[in-house]
Order: sequence, then structure tokens, then C-alpha cells
Amino acid sequence: MSYTAPVKDMLFVMNELAGLAAVNALPGCEDATPETAEAILEENARFCSEVIAPLNHSADKAPSSWSDGKVTTSPGFKEAFRQFGEAGWQGVQHPVEFGGQGLPKLLATPCIEMLNSANLSFALCPLLTDGTIEALMTAGTQQQKETFIANFISGKWTGTMNLTEPQAGSDLALVRTRAVPEGDGTYKLFGTKIFITYGEHDMAENIVHLVLARTPNAPEGVKGISLFIVPKFLVNADGSLGARNDVHCVSIEHKLGIKASPTAVLQFGDHGGAIGTLVGEENRGLEYMFIMMNAARFAVGIQGLSVSERAYQKAVSYARDRIQSRDLAGSPGPVAIIHQPDVRRMLMSMRAQIEAARALSYVAAATSDAAHFSDDEATRKSNQAFYEYLVPIVKGWITEMSVDVTSTGVQVHGGMGFIEETGAAQHYRDARILPIYEGTTAIQANDLVGRKTVRDGGAVAKGIIAQVRQTVAELQGDAQLQPIAARLADAADALEQVVEYVVANVKSDIKAVFAGSVPYLKMAGVVLGGWQMARAAAIAAGKLKSGEGDGKFYEAKLATARFYAEQILPQALAYRTAVVDGGAAVMALAEEQF
Ligand SMILES: Cc1cc2nc3c(=O)[nH]c(=O)nc-3n(C[C@H](O)[C@H](O)[C@H](O)COP(=O)(O)OP(=O)(O)OC[C@H]3O[C@@H](n4cnc5c(N)ncnc54)[C@H](O)[C@@H]3O)c2cc1C
Repeated sequence: MSYTAPVKDMLFVMNELAGLAAVNALPGCEDATPETAEAILEENARFCSEVIAPLNHSADKAPSSWSDGKVTTSPGFKEAFRQFGEAGWQGVQHPVEFGGQGLPKLLATPCIEMLNSANLSFALCPLLTDGTIEALMTAGTQQQKETFIANFISGKWTGTMNLTEPQAGSDLALVRTRAVPEGDGTYKLFGTKIFITYGEHDMAENIVHLVLARTPNAPEGVKGISLFIVPKFLVNADGSLGARNDVHCVSIEHKLGIKASPTAVLQFGDHGGAIGTLVGEENRGLEYMFIMMNAARFAVGIQGLSVSERAYQKAVSYARDRIQSRDLAGSPGPVAIIHQPDVRRMLMSMRAQIEAARALSYVAAATSDAAHFSDDEATRKSNQAFYEYLVPIVKGWITEMSVDVTSTGVQVHGGMGFIEETGAAQHYRDARILPIYEGTTAIQANDLVGRKTVRDGGAVAKGIIAQVRQTVAELQGDAQLQPIAARLADAADALEQVVEYVVANVKSDIKAVFAGSVPYLKMAGVVLGGWQMARAAAIAAGKLKSGEGDGKFYEAKLATARFYAEQILPQALAYRTAVVDGGAAVMALAEEQF
């Protein structure tokens, strides 16, 4: 089998680190019992590994194709998507009133991880639809919700996100698509959107585009952007499909990776105007789109985790099979390369970073649930702040890590890693988009510095660092855990110094601070991932002492946490130097010297 879902580690993280029991106790989360979670994960694992994963490599070789405005997806996708919808997987975290299962994000997250490990290109369609549902749930009218959401959840229709234009990428203030009111509550849209994921395809009856556009006389910049629903087929009052709307796919891109995911150029209004309806109020579009983007950014972070896990599984399997060189300690003949210490180092670094990423992102998901469902306002607020601090880290750190981890996966394969049939190269190519779309790493880092650190004077960041230090204190009494505690303590100090540097210098030397924004983001990921690994180590040590559960699993967890503390966490100290001392060097050359 090409992918085996790591259900055991997922359940460990959910139960022991993210606090599934506490999430289950939140109002509205009564169905999310540990037993239900296990059953859902097992069933999802089966579906993803048996139905979706086998299409990954074949779809890379036979990508989606465009002809005369229509897009045909890779062989097997349409049927797999039908099964996905029918099985109810689109609805895991969405409201019961529209046919969803209404389960918390903590339970949806491993399902998203598995789907993306199975097939990143396929999973993008549900990922964008999830975002569309979230945006409509927040800002849509009751009628808009009723018209669209049940159809999204059943898999009949899919959603897209239309921000990017040729001149407007990271900077959405430059969006030029026009929306002209028709006087009957509808608008006509005119413009070009590029890079629209699943902007056209053959897997659903209708494609519903959420589009950023400007109304006449709207203010300049981001304050003049509104959000519109523009379906491919207009929807009649009784919910049936009406006329073809004036939005057309003029081409799809040829890409480095995620080749099976159609990336469309959409032309709005070439034949009189694409009919759209406003979501929420005029000029508040970006605010609503941010709701969708936050959900999507978190999910893209999970994509990084997913593709890393898949690459790791492939690398382990190759390392067991490939016979080359003798064992350093002596062997009668050549042995499997998994005996070589450097191959072990590569596999351990992949594994440790994956486990840390899983732990941090699932903890973030649980925090989002507490922010959403708790009946106590102070709890909601503090969890929301924690979650918002973590979103750019989950997105930025995990996706950057996935490029390294999948590259290491290629390295484990030696020359065969560079050859397409092996499949390791596909994971590396697929991973490369992840630090780019949904806001590049620099855009995530700007968010981390500006909105998430400077705005509150570093208060949330310092609150999290205090929790890290609490974990250090808990570990210190145990001789076995002491080495992990010592490294984590150093890393927490370094992170605090960086937060203080950012807050203290942003006014006097803004360019130097932002020159260190990506290193700060990566450092925060390394440290907070290390924090979760330290917590995992403490739990594993406790279980081993009490003899409870699967001893082999806990021994492995302890070993991986120790590896992380000794091989990955020290990176935090180098990042501190880069941020605190290295900003001036970044800007030292004049533009003409490049
Ligand atoms: C395969 C694919 C799928 C996509 N899917 C969608 C989709 O479904 N919907 C959609 O709307 N868009 C989509 N996009 C667009 C994607 O979100 C953008 O490509 C991305 O946000 C970057 O914008 P850009 O390409 O214009 O790069 P630019 O904005 O031109 O960035 C170029 C470089 O400059 C840096 N940079 C720019 N501004 C800043 C800044 N303020 N601070 C620091 N550095 C900066 C960037 O980090 C980057 O390194 C997709 C793109 C691809 C390739």
C-alpha cells in the first residue's frame, strides 16, 4: 500500500497533547468522544489509502487538461470525488443543519491530513470548498447559506477562492476586477482572475466562485474591496441550476507540481457581465476573505505535514529495501541502507519534524475549538489569540519544513530519488507550492510580526513562552527528560529575546526587524514544535513507568523527542542571532549593487 495513515500517532496527539477530552466537554462537541474519533479516523484512513492514494502518482503523470473552456480532471478523480461526497467527508467540521457532521476542528484536522497525504492535488478541491463554507457561514445571509452550503457538503457543488489577478498577488490592494450594481440586488462582474485552484473542472455540477472585486466609487486600496458569489451556473429560486454565467476558463497552468489540480485563468464578463451577489456588506470583502484565508492557511500548513508524512513513508520503505555498503560495525556483505548512520539521521529528522508539526497543528486546532465553542468569554478570547498567533506559524513553518523533508526523502533514495518512477520526486515537486500559495512565507511572517506580535507588545507570544517554561519545569525533575528540558529552556530564552527585539525595534528600525521576520517565524515553529515534543516525551515517560499501553510506541516517542531536542531545537539559537544581529546585513547592499 502506498500510504498507511499514522492513526496511532494521530490519536496520541489528539488525546494526550491536544486534549480531545476537554474539546469533547465543550458545548456542542458532545459527539466528539474518543471512541467516535477513533472510529472516524479508522474509516477515513481506509478511504484515503484505498480510494484516493492510488490515484496520486497516476494523476501526476496524467494531469488535468483544458480543451475549449472545459477541464477534464485526471482519470479516476471524478469517481473518487463522488465517493468522497457520498461518504460525507466534506461535512466533517460543518454544521449539522446543512448535512454536515458538526464535529470540532480537532477531529477534522487528521481527516484533512490523511486526504492530503493520500493526494495533495485531489484534496485541494475540498480544501477550497471548506474555506467557502466558512466564509458563507460567517458573512452570508440565511438564504445564501441555504442555497449553497448543503450542496457543498454533499459534494454536488464545489467552491473556489478568487483573489489573485495578474497585477495583484501578495498585495490585494491592487485588485481591479469591477462589480457594477444592477439595481435589482445583483452585480455584474468584469475582470481577470489568475491561478484559481479548481476554477474549472468536471467533478461537480456547479462551481461557486467567491470573488474579490471593487464597486464603482469604492475607496482605494484594501478598504474598497467587496466579496461576491459568482456561480458557474446561476441558481434558480427553487435551487435548480439555471443559465450558464459569464465566467469562463480561458486556460490552465502547466506547473512544477500538484499537476492534477487545475489552476485556472478565469475571465469574468467578456459577454456582458458575470452575475454575482454580494456577501455581507460592500467594502468589507477582504475582512470576510480573511476568514476563509485563515481556515485555508491552517489547512495549507496541514498539507505540508501531509506531504512530509507521505515522503517519510516512502523513504523508510526504500531504506529498508536498498542494499548498499557494509554495516560500519561489520557485516558479511552489503546491508540495507537503513543501517547507515547518515540514513538514520535523515529518517529521524524527517520523522521528528513531522511529529512536532502534527503535535503543534493539532494543538492549534483544539485551541480554535475552544475559541469557537466555549461558553466562557474569557476562555474564547484567550484561545482565539493563541490560535491566531499559531496560524502563520502552522502555515509558514510547516510548509517550509515540508520542502526540506521531501527533499531529504529524495536524498534517501539516492539517484532513484531523481527519477520520476520512484515517486519521491513528486512529493518534492508537490511540496514546493505550499510556502507560496495562501500567502507566501514572507506574508505569513509579516502577519506574525505585525498583527500577532507588535500589536499587543508581544503579550500573547510571551504568554506562550511562559507555558513553554512551565513544561521545562515539569521535565526537570526527571533525569531521563533533563536533556530535553535543558535544550527547551535555551530555545525558550532565545525566542523571548527575539520577541523583545521585535517589539523594541520595530519603530526605530523597521526594515531590520522585517528582515528577520521569516527567521523569527521559523524559529517560533522550531521552538513551539519542540515544546510539544517535550510534552510528548513527558507523557511517554509516564506511560512507560506505569506500564500502560504500547511500550514500543512510547519508547519511540521518547527517542524522537530526544532527537528533536538535540538536532532540531538548537537551530533556534542560530535563528536568534540572525534576527537580533543580522538585520542590518540583509539591507547592507544598495539596490544597484545586486
Ligand atoms: C498553483 C497555484 C495555486 C493558486 N491558487 C490560488 C487560488 O485558488 N486563488 C487565488 O486567489 N490565488 C491562488 N494562487 C495565487 C497565490 O496565492 C499567489 O501566487 C501568492 O499569494 C503570491 O503572489 P504572487 O504570485 O503575485 O507573488 P508576489 O506577490 O509577486 O511575490 C513575489 C515575491 O515577493 C515577495 N513579497 C511580495 N510582497 C511582499 C511583502 N509585502 N513583504 C515581503 N515579501 C513580499 C513574496 O514573498 C515573493 O517571494 C495560486 C498560485 C499558484 C501558483
